[in-house]
Amino acid sequence: MPEARILIVEDEDAIMEIVSQALRRHGYETASASDGDAALEKIFSLRPDLVILDLMLPKMDGWEVCRRMKAEPETERIPILMLTARRDERDVVEGLELGADDYMKKPFSLAELTARVKALLRRTGERRESRIVENGDLRIELDDETALLRGTPLDLSPTEFRLLEALARKMGRTASREELLSKIWSFYGGDTRTVDVHISRLRKKLDDGKSPALAINSLRGRGYRLVWE
Ligand code: CA
Repeated sequence: MPEARILIVEDEDAIMEIVSQALRRHGYETASASDGDAALEKIFSLRPDLVILDLMLPKMDGWEVCRRMKAEPETERIPILMLTARRDERDVVEGLELGADDYMKKPFSLAELTARVKALLRRTGERRESRIVENGDLRIELDDETALLRGTPLDLSPTEFRLLEALARKMGRTASREELLSKIWSFYGGDTRTVDVHISRLRKKLDDGKSPALAINSLRGRGYRLVWE
C-alpha cells in the first residue's frame, strides 16, 4: 500500500506524540491538529486518507468535526477512527451514527491502534479490482464504490458500502454479526454493537419506498440477512 497520510486530532500532547511516533514507525505520514477548528481546516487542505479523531476537543468537539466531514462530498468518504475517554456507550453510538467507522476507548494499546488503522485503510484501498455484485435491481460496483438500487446510486459511507457488499454476497442467507464484524472491522473479538448501529443506518438508506423492498432482516441471536420482500 502506498504511504497513507493520517491526520491525528488530539488535544493531549502526550497521546498525540506517541500515536504519531507509532504510526510513523509503521511507515505512515502523519499530520496533527489539536482542536476542532484546526482539524477541519487540515482535513480540507490535506485530504488525509484517514482521520484519528478524539471526541473531547477544544473549540469544536469531535462529533461536530465528524458531522461536518460527512456533510461534504469531498470529505465524507475519509474513514474516521474515533478516540473516546468516556465510559458512556452512548458517545460511541452517537459517533458511529454520525458516520465514524471505528472507535477505540482510552487508554488503548498502540499495537491495537495500528492494527485498526491498517484494517480501515485496507478496506478503503480494496476497491481497485474491478468487480460487480449483482442481484435483481441491486448492483454493486466495487471498482468505483457505487451501489445502485433500481439504477439510483445509494449514498453510503465506506463502512455501509462494505456491509451491503458482504450481505449482498450472501443474498437471502444469514450473516452472523461476528462474521460481519471480522469481515468489515477486523476487530479482535470486538463489539457487535458497532454492527447493529451500521445495519440500522444502512437499512434506512435502502428504503426507497418501492416494491420489492430491499430489506435487512434481523434474526435474533443469529445475525442479518438481505432479502427482497
Ligand atoms: Ca481530548
